[in-house]
Parts: sequence; structure tokens; C-alpha cells
Amino acid sequence: MSLTLHQLQLFERFTQIDGIAGQEVAVASALRAIYEGLGFEIISDNLGSVVAHKPSKNPNAIKVLVVGHMDEVGFIVTDICPNGMIKCDPVGGLNPQTLLASRVRLKIGPNQFVSGSIDAVPPHLMKEEDRDHPVKIDQMLFDFGFRSKQEALTSGVNIGQMVVVEGPLTILNNGQRLLAKAFDNRYGIVLGIDVLEELKEINLDIDLYVGATVQEEVGTRGAATLAHKIHPDLAIVLDCSPARDSTGVKSELGQLGGGVLIRFYDRSMIAFPELLDYQKLAADQVGVKYQYFDSPGGTDAGAIHLKYDGILTLTHCICARNIHTAASVIDTDDYQAARSSLIYMLKDLNRDQLVKWAEARR
Ligand SMILES: [Zn+2]
Repeated sequence: MSLTLHQLQLFERFTQIDGIAGQEVAVASALRAIYEGLGFEIISDNLGSVVAHKPSKNPNAIKVLVVGHMDEVGFIVTDICPNGMIKCDPVGGLNPQTLLASRVRLKIGPNQFVSGSIDAVPPHLMKEEDRDHPVKIDQMLFDFGFRSKQEALTSGVNIGQMVVVEGPLTILNNGQRLLAKAFDNRYGIVLGIDVLEELKEINLDIDLYVGATVQEEVGTRGAATLAHKIHPDLAIVLDCSPARDSTGVKSELGQLGGGVLIRFYDRSMIAFPELLDYQKLAADQVGVKYQYFDSPGGTDAGAIHLKYDGILTLTHCICARNIHTAASVIDTDDYQAARSSLIYMLKDLNRDQLVKWAEARR
């Protein structure tokens, strides 16, 4: 099922706001405006995570936190060379082979950007030994057209500013799939808004918090402080994980179009089996696909489930091809599967279920 125009507009808007870890303020302020526009109270913490609160009328309601990270991978300016070229460090995990000759933009102020590219050696000039050794990121030269260091400085460039690879939203295959930068994790950001819009007028048996963390890509830092602030009884983490289906091998975990991910194991959390069963039940109830998934990476769930005396935490992810590049691809059926099964869970959840799951582990 392809997306509605409104959903597409949300993806267009939120994939195109730049926000590397630690510099998410433009994403956060756009989110804040939307949450406030829907009539929700906003909660934020000192690192910059933002959450909308939908209180329950039930005084005994459990607190459920639905959260995705708002930061993306990118670069931070570390040096301006005498000839005007700029050097950067990566922020988050980047594969150097995906970068040379990419178009990039550098944020020099609120809503102020300069455009450029990453310098690449043409094949004629490559030395034999260069062919087997990709250029390291700290050796790459970012070219914004400046002819000297002074010209870059006068134009507003400074150490510590953010650079992001351009990746406009493009509709593929009549809307079945979407191509853009930052589906990891603007998927979770868009889904959070979408779900709040859907549930706005509905009375829930849970005290619902839906929002976005900062600094996931550098080690789930925002999730740690936000989980402390909210102290949820249950957390559901929305994130976008690497697909492994490009070669057509069906036995690989992470098939684009295969539905929401039942993420049973990763580096940061061993999933709660009771919650995975519930996630599968929700998908069955609304008639959408799901697939098992494991990962050598982690998510915000890793930080959240270790807070206090342990917080029951479930990931509710989809997969994308080419994550951590500006050309990631998602399948819109996966998005709709995640959306409808999440809405089912939020309408269905109550204290009795939570007590049962918690007791099952004692
Ligand atoms: Zn992510």
C-alpha cells in the first residue's frame, strides 16, 4: 500500500532537515511545532530530546514511551585548509566507499547552507596502489568553492559546523519504494507523528509519550537521559535497520517489503520474548507482514531497557537498503505494516498485560 500524500509530505520534510548527532535543533523545533499544533504538551530534556504527552483518563494507566532517534550520520568540520578546502571527521558510522564525489551541504547558520562536493581523483590520475585502498574520511577534501581559507571564513564557515550528504526524496516504482537520505531514522520520526495524528481524539488506557531522542548514532546518549526523565513502564523504539536482501537471497534476515522487524537479538539488547509474541500478535490482528531480524548493531532500546530496575522495551523497526548513506531505500508496505501494528498495540495495551510480562521474568 503506497503512502498518502500527507505521509509523503512528512517524509519529504523530515528526511530533508539536516541534523547530525549533537546538532539536531532544526529537527527538534519542527517536531515541537507539530506536536504543539496537535495540542499535546511537550516534554524535553537538557540534551534536546523532545516528546509529546497524551495523558490517559485512567489514573492507574501505565506509561508507554514510543521513541525514535532524530539524529542522522554526517560530518563535523575539523579544519579549513589554506586553499579553501575543508576537512571533516565523521559523526556516526560511514562507509568511505559511499562518499567520494557526493554532493554535500554545510550548515553555516540557522537555515543557512553552502553547497559543495567531496573531492575525487579521476581514474586517469589514480595510482595502482590507490585502487585497492579507499580514501579514508580524514583524508577527504570537501570543496565548497572557496579559493582560500579567508574566503571560507568570511562566508561563515567555522570549525564544528555540520556537513551532510545531499539525498533528496525520490519516489520509486510508482510509490512502492522511496529513496532519500536519513530514513535511519526519520522513519521513526514520521511514524511517531503519523500515530499521534491517528490517536489524537481516541481515549487510550495508557499514558502515552511519543517523541524523538538525540545522539543515537554516537552511542544512544539521548535515549539514556530521556528514559530517565520519562521513567516509562514500557518503551517501544522505532528505528530503521539494514536490509540484507539486495542479492536476492531469501534466507537473509532483513528483506525489503518483508514487513515489520521482529528484532530478537542485537548488540545492545536481547529482546523480551513476551513482547515479541505481542508484536507478532498485533501484526496478525491487523493482517500485516512481519519478519525476524538480528543485527550486529544496536538501537536506543539498548540504553532504555537498562534504566532503573529494567524497563520492558520492544523495538518496532523496518529495514532499508543503503542505510548510513544519502541513498537509502524503504518499502512503503513495510512502513504501513509498522504503522498499523503499532496503532493496534497502543490501543490495546493496559496494565494487566504489563504485569503479566513483568511477572513472567521474575
Ligand atoms: Zn538508527
